[in-house]
Amino acid sequence: MKKNILDLTKEELEREVSPKFRAKQIFQWIYQKGVEAFEQMSNLPKTLRKELAQKFEIALPKILNVEVSKDGSKKYLLGLADGHTIESVLLPMKKEERDEEGNIVKEAKYTVCVSSQVGCKVGCEFCLTAKGGFVRNLTPGEIVGQVLAIRKDNDIPANRRVNVVYMGMGEPLDNLENVAKAVKIFSDENGLSISPRRQTISTSGLAPKIKKLGDMNLGVLLAISLHAVDDELRQKLMPINKAYNIESVIQAVKEFPIDQRKRVMFEYLMIKNLNDDIKAAKKLVKLLHGIKAKVNLIYFNPYPGSPFQRPEEERVKRFQQYLLDHGVLCTIRESKGLDISAACGQLKEKKSGCAV
Ligand code: SAH
Ligand code: SF4
Repeated sequence: MKKNILDLTKEELEREVSPKFRAKQIFQWIYQKGVEAFEQMSNLPKTLRKELAQKFEIALPKILNVEVSKDGSKKYLLGLADGHTIESVLLPMKKEERDEEGNIVKEAKYTVCVSSQVGCKVGCEFCLTAKGGFVRNLTPGEIVGQVLAIRKDNDIPANRRVNVVYMGMGEPLDNLENVAKAVKIFSDENGLSISPRRQTISTSGLAPKIKKLGDMNLGVLLAISLHAVDDELRQKLMPINKAYNIESVIQAVKEFPIDQRKRVMFEYLMIKNLNDDIKAAKKLVKLLHGIKAKVNLIYFNPYPGSPFQRPEEERVKRFQQYLLDHGVLCTIRESKGLDISAACGQLKEKKSGCAV
């Protein structure tokens, strides 16, 4: 079987071609010019094009379905080579603005929420992805391919600013090696040039892997799905807390190398009458003491049969105000794509009967 060339970092590709600079050209063709056949790489010698085509393919995931939300976000159901499906979401962050003559004065900005696994092992109570169990890790090319497929579908030019968040299906740190390669491929200067600072890895808190990620020095942003401030509740919501409790996660964050400009994001799912009171906010402030943190409050998004409820806006605002009053940066995540269940972590195919 042919290898997917999207799985390779430029350094790996350099080992496959001679002279080395051909790897740069191939990267430019694939990632900047969007070419999907080696034959079209006109500045490569014909023999090399043939060799490449014998050995490799340029395999993007297939778009099986797209749901467009009222706010413009789009949820993609993507088919992989072995028939498994994953989901990715395009979130337009800023709309394009034009002057009276139709010239673009402000470019649109996008964030793509990518999956890192088919399913997930972690098994959080509130998460739809967890319901289907774990199937397999995605390869680097399957992660990178999500952005390529979405960019192509929306005619997003290669030089347009795109952020990547690893907040789709799966636990990225449970597939660290492939995710790290994807980070490198995304950020390659001959490719999409998505700087690691525009890539956010979200984790349920695999403490030793947070350390490992730090040691790798990729320069990515870190997001922690915290969701609860005491171990008893967190354990109920996220079984992973039995292995790595809150203290161990906070410790790993404190040891994570961040430069002055960066901060760690803490995602906190607001669940009605469970973790949305001021007592919890107080504890959260204490917990984050000494960390350059930003808290992102997320409304729990209910689905049929879900054991939890969405809190009232007033309670979420009160929680946010408490944090702000106590010097903790805090935003409320806009319910982007809520009508199509495109909120990150909400991704599961409707066909499996768990329609949202
Ligand atoms: N596995 C990683 C990354 C994917 S989940 C992690 O858990 O961090 C991305 C986010 O979506 C997580 O913060 C998760 O808690 C959130 N999420 C999961 N289910 C949700 C739901 N029903 N409503 C709102 N957010 C949810
Ligand atoms: Fe996995 Fe994240 Fe869902 Fe938990 S919230 S089951 S870690 S995808």
